[in-house]
Amino acid sequence: MNFDFTEEQRAIRDLARDFAQNVIAPIAAEYDESGEFPLETVKQMGELGLMGIEVPEAYGGAGMDTLAYVLAMEEICKVDASHGTIMSVNNSLYCHGLLKFGTEEQKQKYLVPIATGQKIGAYSLTEPMSGSDAGTMRSRALRNEAGDFVINGRKSWVTSGPVADYITLFTVTNPDAEPKHKGISAFMIDADHPGFIRGKKEPKLGIRASATSEILYEDYVAPE
Ligand SMILES: Cc1cc2nc3c(=O)[nH]c(=O)nc-3n(C[C@H](O)[C@H](O)[C@H](O)COP(=O)(O)OP(=O)(O)OC[C@H]3O[C@@H](n4cnc5c(N)ncnc54)[C@H](O)[C@@H]3O)c2cc1C
Repeated sequence: MNFDFTEEQRAIRDLARDFAQNVIAPIAAEYDESGEFPLETVKQMGELGLMGIEVPEAYGGAGMDTLAYVLAMEEICKVDASHGTIMSVNNSLYCHGLLKFGTEEQKQKYLVPIATGQKIGAYSLTEPMSGSDAGTMRSRALRNEAGDFVINGRKSWVTSGPVADYITLFTVTNPDAEPKHKGISAFMIDADHPGFIRGKKEPKLGIRASATSEILYEDYVAPE
């Protein structure tokens, strides 16, 4: 069996290493101290294909495999954990689920701009009183008379929450389900939609350029 990396895997590893050492390293400490989100470098990473490494080229990604993703992640994280965290949320938490379970329409609208780095993605499961045991979450998406889902609740620890354009949100659609986690559904959320409110930013001790915040939903209507 051949355990060597392929030419493609070596190429993305080297590209990520060059970018990390030449572009991220000189600014990493400054952004970590200020806590400012490094939007410019994140967009450049998108242009280089680092924001959707496993996303097929047809959806704006690099169309590579998981090993290629891990090799690139290692190079970015070696230099700055904040850029690594932003990159991992975009690639795995956001793009992977959407690619696997999204409709074609959702992929066109929510996957392409994130995989190309034009927009920022986030993933929102955790709540102030609900962490590992996600079935205890209190947020709700309940149908109104028109059949649309109306989302209410407070989510916490949303990585890239202060800047995200689109969010994969997990919330309860069936409060009577047993076990509880079977009553949770995923929604694609637009940050510029009424009822979407960015909450307080967490003052973290480290990985500070990877902004983390609460997000509140107040009668956010998600069409059927
Ligand atoms: C920097 C940062 C970024 C984050 N980004 C995101 C994000 O983008 N999106 C998001 O949804 N969430 C995010 N989170 C939240 C994170 O996913 C939660 O912190 C995590 O799910 C754990 O929840 P908790 O903190 O409430 O801890 P708890 O669930 O209360 O766990 C506390 C401790 O108890 C242990 N424990 C829990 N249950 C059991 C059990 N049954 N048996 C034994 N031990 C147990 C855990 O291992 C842990 O050590 C982020 C958190 C941080 C710190």
